[in-house]
Amino acid sequence: MIKIHATGSSGNFYSLETSTEILILEAGINIKKIKEALDFDLSKVVGCLITHEHKDHSKSVKEVLKCGIDVYMSEGTLKGINLDYDYSHRIPYLLEHNSISKIGGFTVVPFNTQHDVNEPLGFLIHHPELGKILFATDTYYLKNRFNNVDHILIECNYSEDVILQLPAWRARTLKSHMSLETLKETLNSWDLTGVKDIILIHISHDNGEPDRFQKEIQELTGIKTYIGEPGLILE
Ligand SMILES: [Zn+2]
Ligand SMILES: [Zn+2]
Repeated sequence: MIKIHATGSSGNFYSLETSTEILILEAGINIKKIKEALDFDLSKVVGCLITHEHKDHSKSVKEVLKCGIDVYMSEGTLKGINLDYDYSHRIPYLLEHNSISKIGGFTVVPFNTQHDVNEPLGFLIHHPELGKILFATDTYYLKNRFNNVDHILIECNYSEDVILQLPAWRARTLKSHMSLETLKETLNSWDLTGVKDIILIHISHDNGEPDRFQKEIQELTGIKTYIGEPGLILE
């Protein structure tokens, strides 16, 4: 199953769970909350993927490593996080665009995303029990096309309607994120045959309109669309 524990600029944490394994996505909330979200049982966790160094995605990387969990990220992200190696027993695995990693039963292929940081990544993840999952957040657009995945977890941060009403500095920050309009164009250019659901993540707290985004994406694609909010579980 796919679980949303925390999403958005106040912290991101998601888990992909099978009967025997858990892959965690991001570590942008404090470690106590991460453990609580996993029912205080880390024994099934096979790894943790980090998209980029912003604190809302990477806050607890060091603590996750200290728990004995393997963490995967790009070299640029590692530099951006500035980890204090002395305290960690484990060194993060470095990922590159289009490389293939086996993490337990999960196969992970990272791809470049477009954001105001060093070397951000998104992930295409496959597991025999879960199918193919696309995970893309904090990216103002995607260069790759992703066809025929099973589940799409994708950022829908704001609508371009609000940009004109915002001060320039605020508009700039928003522009490093995926707008509703860009997401629509993106989904229109993909073959969505076989896609079971779309989960909208990292919706802006101040400038997002979750209900409208959900409705418009579901209408556009004809695919069951969910607002990614804490507590959402997809079986
Ligand atoms: Zn973020
Ligand atoms: Zn970010």
